[in-house]
Amino acid sequence: MVEIKLKKGKEKAVYQHHPWIFSGALDKVKGKPANGEVVRVIDANGEFLAYGYYNDQSRVAVRLIEWSEEATIDADWYESKIKTAIAGRANLLNENTTACRLIFSEADFLPGLIVDKYADFLSVQILSSGIEKAKEVIISALVKLLQPKGIFDRSDATARTHEGITAENGLLWGENPEEFIEVKENGIKYHINIAEGQKSGFYCDQRDNRKILASYTKNKKVLDCFSYSGGFSLNALLEGASHVTSVDSSALAIETLKQNIALNQFDASKHTAIQSDVNKQLRQFNDELQKFDVVVLDPPKYAPSRSALDRAARAYKDLNRRGLMLLESGGLLATFSCSGAVDIETFKQIIAWAALDAGKEVQIIKQFCQPEDHPIRLSFPEGEYLKGLLVRVV
Ligand code: SAH
Repeated sequence: MVEIKLKKGKEKAVYQHHPWIFSGALDKVKGKPANGEVVRVIDANGEFLAYGYYNDQSRVAVRLIEWSEEATIDADWYESKIKTAIAGRANLLNENTTACRLIFSEADFLPGLIVDKYADFLSVQILSSGIEKAKEVIISALVKLLQPKGIFDRSDATARTHEGITAENGLLWGENPEEFIEVKENGIKYHINIAEGQKSGFYCDQRDNRKILASYTKNKKVLDCFSYSGGFSLNALLEGASHVTSVDSSALAIETLKQNIALNQFDASKHTAIQSDVNKQLRQFNDELQKFDVVVLDPPKYAPSRSALDRAARAYKDLNRRGLMLLESGGLLATFSCSGAVDIETFKQIIAWAALDAGKEVQIIKQFCQPEDHPIRLSFPEGEYLKGLLVRVV
């Protein structure tokens, strides 16, 4: 096995089980490992530290997977990691919830592997060259442990290009899913288009937050911005919202949301779907002096990295200012950020600025976070990305 020697002092993060080694920490590569090959990482004195996936095209030169020297990274190793990850979700899946994330990359010791379960199908994203190399073994383990109908690859993410692997999108194993398959989340039915939907097809990371927010929406007029297939909208309708308006720029999202309203036999007259840019729509609502009781803002990731933080902060501020303008005293704003680079304290600061600009005094009445199928490994704090605040206008 190829050995990678670290510069003196660079072993500290490895001792703490942080899974990334940046290229600047490497002293010597003893051999010529292929990208994705498992290498043995040693410290400046030659002592064993960990095993990991090597990649000379990525900023993260080694993604660590195992800290025990005796371990062998073979099919059994992968099966055991996958088994542990699946067992960790057992509490979540039942007849009312058939969708969840089974494997969450570094948090489950498989850096670059995301596996989402959508009823009998698996939607997989392979985002590191190490996982790409182990693909066959991983698929065999998933088939053995879960007996899915089909496994679909949705790896067309930009992360792959950073790893020097080309985008993939297609059937990996078993049958192709129908255009729309049906799942349930907290008793609500959803259609998911695995092949063409966003990311892996659905955002199960908002499962808990949708339910929590719904409890504030009975008899309320709700505006769900960035609605995608309607997670927040459908939960609000179930809890008795008097009317829900959903806004999303994607035609497929709006189409799927309309199907979901019908699928759950909700009263379509209580719902309005608008295909539009959210900022434009919020400006229009402001011009028309429209008001809502509850506004949800769940935008896509504005800050892909720390360097984009300033621009992202301004975008979040403007968005939230516009959202707050539509609320009167007692109104609620549920606002989210899925940018890992924006931590909760920064997010609170941004919302404080937005409130000041909107001329509103607000109180935080709840904080939102990511659910248990997106665990945060304490040795990998970068895995924490989803945060939100429920604020009330005073
Ligand atoms: N709240 C959703 C998930 C939101 S994902 C849920 O519970 O499932 C972000 C959504 O924002 C995507 O559906 C995307 O189509 C939409 N989007 C991105 N930019 C947008 C914009 N400028 N205006 C409106 N929608 C946008």
